[in-house]
Amino acid sequence: MMASPIRHVKRSRKAYICDWCNRRIAAGQPYATWFTYEENVISRMHPECCEAMQRADRYDEELPPRGTYRRGCWCGESEQFCTCKAETINNSKGTDNG
Ligand SMILES: [Zn+2]
Ligand SMILES: [Zn+2]
Repeated sequence: MMASPIRHVKRSRKAYICDWCNRRIAAGQPYATWFTYEENVISRMHPECCEAMQRADRYDEELPPRGTYRRGCWCGESEQFCTCKAETINNSKGTDNG
């Protein structure tokens, strides 16, 4: 699949639907975007969804249907069994007393 490099937009000028999780990207929010030449389509994703896609190694493949994965998730499991989110939460939690 031929695709342009991913461009990160800091503030969206309008609302979009994320091509990964099928959720809204609100105006004023950051998002990642790129262009696929063969299909002539512009893709837009939440930054964390874009990262998830790269982790899932999907950038060079055809994307799964919107909503196949949850926001920021690349393991494809349901929330209960999600392994990647657990990783992220553990990493971002830091040293909390409790
Ligand atoms: Zn998303
Ligand atoms: Zn996951």
